[in-house]
Amino acid sequence: MKVTIESEDDSHDHYVHRTLLEKKSPYFAALPRFKEGRDNHVTLKEVDNDAFEHIIHWSYTDRFSPSFQDYTSTIIETYAAADHLMMPKCKNMVLDNLRSKYSRKPADIGHLGLVRMLGYGASTAIAIYVTDQIVYEAITNDGWFFGKGDHHAFFEVGREHALELMKKLVEKSRLYSLKADGKSLWRNKGHPDPAFAKGCVHHEHAEGEKCYLQEAEGTTG
Ligand SMILES: [Zn+2]
Repeated sequence: MKVTIESEDDSHDHYVHRTLLEKKSPYFAALPRFKEGRDNHVTLKEVDNDAFEHIIHWSYTDRFSPSFQDYTSTIIETYAAADHLMMPKCKNMVLDNLRSKYSRKPADIGHLGLVRMLGYGASTAIAIYVTDQIVYEAITNDGWFFGKGDHHAFFEVGREHALELMKKLVEKSRLYSLKADGKSLWRNKGHPDPAFAKGCVHHEHAEGEKCYLQEAEGTTG
């Protein structure tokens, strides 16, 4: 089937096996009932093109290509795309990839700005994770900086996210204190790097469903 990804400036056509899309995404599975399904052509305006390419790769192989680790913004866009296409398993795997990216490259405010722009409120799983990661970097990393972008706009429009960020900064900074020798070194009193969290942390699951627990049971049983 033909999938056109349309943005303000351009459009891209993709040809993907329809049965695959239907198997992986309830969004596509629901199409036959509508005009787009009959025409075998669907146009998506809410999905980023790079993100959709990564989702196609994931749909065929159940994993992401190595280049998925290149850009933090694309990983976040792919999370939103998987959400839009109702692919929770893919979405949780995107989150694992975001953790992996953040274990090598610090989070900055721009990422939270993107999360907000994509429509995720401060209490959503993705916003909570990115906020936690920024707080961790800001407190523990000497070289951390806010990152590029219009921070004024972020604090103006992203008030809800900015407030959460500030609350967590204050709360987490209490876990650190000056070393007794007074050489202005901070000592961590229990603030692990969220990027190294294991398992279903920040995943979204239907009640009673846990992907890692299921995998573990599968390997031991
Ligand atoms: Zn999970």
